[in-house]
Amino acid sequence: MQHFPIFLDLADRPVVIAGNGAFALAKMRLLSKTQARLALFAPVPEADLESAAVELSVPLHRRSVEAADLTGAALAYAAHGEAAADARLAGLARAAGVIVNVVDNLEASDFITPAIVDRDPVTIAIGTEGAAPVLARKIKADLEATLPVALGPLARAGKLFRPHAEALPQGRARRDFWADYYFNTGPLVLAEAGEELLDHALHALLDQHLNAATEPGRVDLVGAGPGDPELMTLKARRLLDGADVVIHDHLVPAAILELARREAIFVAVGKIGFAPSTPQEEINAAMIEHAQAGHRVVRLKGGDASVFGRLDEETEALSAAGIDWAVTPGITAASAAAASIGASLTRRGRNSDLRLLTAHDVSGFADHDWRALARPGAVAAIYMGKRAARFVQGRLLMHGADGQTPVTLVENVSRPDQRIVTSRLDRLPQDIADAAFAGPVITLLGLAPARAAAVLPALIEEFA
Ligand code: SAH
Repeated sequence: MQHFPIFLDLADRPVVIAGNGAFALAKMRLLSKTQARLALFAPVPEADLESAAVELSVPLHRRSVEAADLTGAALAYAAHGEAAADARLAGLARAAGVIVNVVDNLEASDFITPAIVDRDPVTIAIGTEGAAPVLARKIKADLEATLPVALGPLARAGKLFRPHAEALPQGRARRDFWADYYFNTGPLVLAEAGEELLDHALHALLDQHLNAATEPGRVDLVGAGPGDPELMTLKARRLLDGADVVIHDHLVPAAILELARREAIFVAVGKIGFAPSTPQEEINAAMIEHAQAGHRVVRLKGGDASVFGRLDEETEALSAAGIDWAVTPGITAASAAAASIGASLTRRGRNSDLRLLTAHDVSGFADHDWRALARPGAVAAIYMGKRAARFVQGRLLMHGADGQTPVTLVENVSRPDQRIVTSRLDRLPQDIADAAFAGPVITLLGLAPARAAAVLPALIEEFA
């Protein structure tokens, strides 16, 4: 982020616009929405510019800007559309310590004017660092179409009411009140009774919220999916959005955590690879403590919460502590990995069952029905299988598996750094060593990528 977005208070602050024609006109119209004290400098103004200045009551100076004109200015705009004149203004502005925007010239500017969606006092600024103005305009058009025009009146009434809302305790109670106003009561009252009754409705709503018993805390155990935020469920998104506390595994990437509220408390637990992990009791204690404090806790787990996620240990602890909880499923690594290679986890005539297995359990390497797994056509998704590859290979070959059985390894499924490595049972440990995986890897035993998918071959690494 080279340019940092902020909202600048321009009330009663001088802003200098120097230039002519359409450039200056556009900036003047935009800035006249603020409460800045605008001054327009144009030695020979075009007719449109002149009449707009009269219409908008912007003082027009029929001369070039001089150094003194910039003293105390908050911003300066160079809108001549002519390099020499723009550079002169930029020089004067900088000498006076005023930041300057040269219209249509990113390099020469100290700041960018974003695309703006105006539902005053709700203002949305969109910037692309100059990379894609087309994209900014598209986003603006989409937002203009989706945001109700009524947002302005709602927010204005809400803003005036803010001091009253302080009667509610800070945090969730207050947030719930505002959410109720902006998403339920407010739009309804506005549509049916009009803007004048919003204040009355706010008072009634506040009474209602003050009288409501405070909701007890709860814990939602949520599957975050394999990493791509688009692979989360809508419910997971909604719960994350409302969470006061997010207790998450290391498998959950930043791109997903960023979807939670900024004010939420984030607690990282779990383990990375074979590093020491947070003891389960500590995780349980953290969930219980936050829920008892009345918080809405989201326990966010990679993939699906119920697959190798120690879910029961957590829900049992919550039940024992008398805390309300629920589970929201997510896409498990096996599903996402199968999707990444365009393969089916089950297939008529090949395998009518599917095993999700871990190569490790509490007592070391996990034991399985190796005979069934060694049968031709068997498919299994092996979790946490990197270290146990030699053990798994040995057991399967010992029980008669074909050394040519395809095995596909997918690292960082669904993330930007996803890697697909094709292997075979007889080469598995060597291929894993050669691949030098750093991220989580899921092993798909009995599956090879679907060759028909045109994009796949480029993504796949093979060890000949
Ligand atoms: N609950 C998770 C699994 C947790 S066990 C789920 O449903 O996916 C951790 C193991 O899951 C990792 O060792 C790896 O084998 C697998 N895994 C989880 N996320 C993965 C990802 N994005 N890419 C590859 N493997 C992943």
